[in-house]
Amino acid sequence: NKQVIFRDYVSGFPKESAMELRESTMKLRLPEGSNGLLVKNLYLSCDSYMRRRMTKLDVPSYVDSFKPGSPIIGYGVARVLESGHPNFKKGDLLWGFTGWEEYSLITAPETCFKIEHTDVPLSYYTGLLGMPGMTAYAGFFEVCSPKKGETVFISAASGAVGQLVGQFAKLFGCYVVGSAGSKEKVDLLKNKFGFDDALNYKEEVDLDAALKRCFPEGIDIYFENVGGKMLDAVLLNMKIHGRIAGCGMNSLYNLEQPEGIHNLMNLILKRVRMEGFLVFDYYHLYPKFLEMVLPRIKEGKIVCVEDIAKGLEDAPAALIGLFSGHNVGKQVVVVSQE
Ligand code: NDP
Repeated sequence: NKQVIFRDYVSGFPKESAMELRESTMKLRLPEGSNGLLVKNLYLSCDSYMRRRMTKLDVPSYVDSFKPGSPIIGYGVARVLESGHPNFKKGDLLWGFTGWEEYSLITAPETCFKIEHTDVPLSYYTGLLGMPGMTAYAGFFEVCSPKKGETVFISAASGAVGQLVGQFAKLFGCYVVGSAGSKEKVDLLKNKFGFDDALNYKEEVDLDAALKRCFPEGIDIYFENVGGKMLDAVLLNMKIHGRIAGCGMNSLYNLEQPEGIHNLMNLILKRVRMEGFLVFDYYHLYPKFLEMVLPRIKEGKIVCVEDIAKGLEDAPAALIGLFSGHNVGKQVVVVSQE
């Protein structure tokens, strides 16, 4: 069983050496009487929140730290080989938390989602049809309270979550602008995902001026994925009664000392509502989400761009690449296609 082992906690910008590839000779089998699952992993998901798990957390968190010496844990798509749980049988496909290894024992199958629709690429269940898709859906429709015709700004917009928020907002009838860190990503936003406009934040000397150029009348909704300087500039450009969905803060994850925010007074002056959210609180909406999104994928109204790393060998580099913007679209690792 080939595995990607988490070696030790990191501080600052993580390196590939925080992980190592190992071959385990231990035969995996479902213990007698267990209600768990033995699965074969097919696709693994690289997600920015995993950076938090690489730190030894001394405060309560929605996820635990990784265990040094054990495989990395993350979302993935897997096939059931043996089942001790009434919800799953041999041969079923699922998505949920699994190990970065060829075969895993899943001890909490009740947290996994059975995959019922297989007429779409299975890798989509790491992104568009999995946790990031639900994050985009819940964050936009439940937290942002959108209205048709409103102006929407999304940071890290070409990533797994951002690309979907933009497409949902466009389908809903909003004016949508995204920011990303390269020309290639900006082109994707405008030409593939149908954003009305996009900016390369790395080339803008003055983010406030860039936002004023894109939103002369101001921003109704900001979908926050990066924090830091971008949030500060957005605060200067929010409209009265605007809403900010706090989804993630990619620019802060590797900093020892988070940057200060200077323009928070604008929350008061403009009566802006800023609300952080966690996708786990919205999983009950998953069936409703699938009902909305599956037909639109089939009609080509929602598309998805994936960045595919081949094999567990490339998984550490793929994960670390998220923090320097190496990925173009949803970062997936293929473990097996059978
Ligand atoms: P992404 O794939 O977008 O994350 C990687 C991208 O973030 C990179 O490609 C890069 O794009 C950008 N990035 C990296 N470092 C920085 C930086 N210092 N400053 C600005 N941008 C940076 O991630 P996801 O789409 O999967 O997730 C988006 C956000 O949502 C993340 O913050 C994640 O933690 C959060 N999240 C929150 C959930 C919740 O329940 N609240 C659930 C899932 C995700 P670029 O080249 O454009 O800089």
